[in-house]
Amino acid sequence: MTVCKKCRRAGMKLFLKGERCDLPVCSVTKRNYPPGQHGSKSKGRLTDYGMQLRVKQKLKHTYGIREKQLKNYFNKAKNKKGDLGEIILQELELRLDNVVYRSGLADSRRQARQIVSHGLLEISSKSVDIPSYQVKQGTEIKIKESKLQKPFLKEKFQKLKKQKSSVDWINLDIKNGIIKIIDIPSKNEIKGDRDIGLVIEYYSR
Ligand code: SF4
Repeated sequence: MTVCKKCRRAGMKLFLKGERCDLPVCSVTKRNYPPGQHGSKSKGRLTDYGMQLRVKQKLKHTYGIREKQLKNYFNKAKNKKGDLGEIILQELELRLDNVVYRSGLADSRRQARQIVSHGLLEISSKSVDIPSYQVKQGTEIKIKESKLQKPFLKEKFQKLKKQKSSVDWINLDIKNGIIKIIDIPSKNEIKGDRDIGLVIEYYSR
């Protein structure tokens, strides 16, 4: 399935293609109905299960993870104390690839995953190239000294001089190439918080 079809199937923009997502060429803007031969004619009301499934798929595609990974987040969160939905969303938000995206260093989570997997980053002086790596409050993610001169990064830094990180819980220090987690996002700060209950219902069946 192409990336844009995931958005059309979810019935909303999942912002998987960076700058293109804000342009009129976005597939959801142009054709806001499910893909496929009969997509434009499908008007049926979703069952509760259908709704849960759709929201679960949306969450999976938004963070670019597989079914098994999302189920693991759910199972691990169940064993922790607190608001289950908030814990799942926080774990997803604190993935290294997501943090790079939220910091503004990447235009999409897909691009953020490339930055991570191409070995541009280090944490506590150790190279980290695992997109699902979990960061914590206080973690400092550093762009390796040897990578700071990459044209892509230099261009990005120029753009970022005029804007700050898209969220308050992350600080991007452009001068030193450091992303710092200054806080843990609350449920209300994370987009999609209203839908997480349906995902919990889906996995609790
Ligand atoms: Fe989704 Fe972006 Fe494609 Fe639009 S352009 S359909 S938001 S991935």
